[in-house]
Amino acid sequence: MAPLRLRSPGKVGLYVCGPTVDGIPHLGHGRFSLVFDVLRRYLLFSGLEVTYVSNITDIEDKIIDRAADRGIPIDEFTAINEALWWEIMDALGVLRPDEVPHATAYVDRMIVLIGDLVAKGVAYETATGVYLSVLDVPGYGLLARQPLDSLRAGARIEADEEKRSPLDFVLWKKAKPGEPSWEAPWGAGRPGWHTECVVMSLDLLGEGFELHGGGQDLTFPHHENERAQAVADGKEFARHWMHNGWVTVGGEKMSKSLGNFTSLADLLARSDARAYRLLVLRSHYRSPIEVTPDTIAQAEAGLARLDELARRFALSDLLAEGPPTGPDAAVGELDEEAVAAFIASMDDDLDTPGALAAVFDLARQANSAADAGDDRGAIRAAGTANLLAAALGLRLQGVVDDAVDEVSATLVRQRDDARAAKDWAAADALRAELEGAGWLVEDSAEGTRIRRR
Ligand SMILES: [Zn+2]
Repeated sequence: MAPLRLRSPGKVGLYVCGPTVDGIPHLGHGRFSLVFDVLRRYLLFSGLEVTYVSNITDIEDKIIDRAADRGIPIDEFTAINEALWWEIMDALGVLRPDEVPHATAYVDRMIVLIGDLVAKGVAYETATGVYLSVLDVPGYGLLARQPLDSLRAGARIEADEEKRSPLDFVLWKKAKPGEPSWEAPWGAGRPGWHTECVVMSLDLLGEGFELHGGGQDLTFPHHENERAQAVADGKEFARHWMHNGWVTVGGEKMSKSLGNFTSLADLLARSDARAYRLLVLRSHYRSPIEVTPDTIAQAEAGLARLDELARRFALSDLLAEGPPTGPDAAVGELDEEAVAAFIASMDDDLDTPGALAAVFDLARQANSAADAGDDRGAIRAAGTANLLAAALGLRLQGVVDDAVDEVSATLVRQRDDARAAKDWAAADALRAELEGAGWLVEDSAEGTRIRRR
């Protein structure tokens, strides 16, 4: 990864396209949120001050249609979906953005930009709206890295015959009767999606902000078009771009439009909330990932190994006080070499599979050192694994969280009694009851052992 070119030393502005709150978040939303959460945490771990901005698109065609289908006002519909969004992001351990601009709060500023572009002669009005003339924008297509002809071939057939080029995109959509609208010099209407992000990112982060991120499917046309407006307006836009790869299920791209929609809420209901983060970390951010019960189960098995380490060495929760801002956050002595290897991986275009491998290596080393009686080496390796996992936003669940309440302790005793009496049916029923209360139940030589899932 090219080194970040910063505007002022130590500070990074990061803009990530957020969700359109038109329904239930899907796995692709979870992936981009986790990828950029990991990036943000790593920038913080590197000692940088990060301003993370991610928007909410709360006005859009589908929102209008779906709110109408439900028979509720648009703002009520978007508020319900946005609340669900944050609930799920919190469950995934994704840090809340520093700023969450809502498109509807920025319409006035979008109208100003569109007016500027019209005045400069790069945007024009038709019967349906205002469009940007992309052929008047130097370097259009650079981000998509495709010649204009191939972009043009892929452009949608447009209803508006007044458009000068099929690639020209809408900045302002004139409202049809009954649609929500704002007053503008071109008649009542609403802004186009690409205009939202360019206005909000430049407003909150300033010109030439360091990094713009989003899913790979946003590269073209969304990001290309965001950039085109900034260029046409004579402004420096994002200095660096990062795009994460697809989520696939059975080899197909996950998206609502393909109909293979699986919600994040379903995934969280059926698995450890940390498993998706681990799965995302196991692949390079640009590669596709496959989310299936198998890959999630493999991630849970990895988590179990790390949790076991946390219990064995009574590791503390390094995320309790917020994301660690460097190796100083560690408790005790560190394996400096392992920390350096971790940093080298993360600096290499965010090689999270390499970084994660360092964490698991440390876990193995800690266990074998402890088995060999090298307590100091074991504690150093375990503590380093804990720090590096925390830097990736992975919370290990150790003894700290496993306080056993009285009811559960009683169930454990009853189960041990049932097993001693060879009453397997009762023992199984008690196991089910404990599992229902959120415990993992294991049989050991000393009897029933429980720990939090
Ligand atoms: Zn965007």
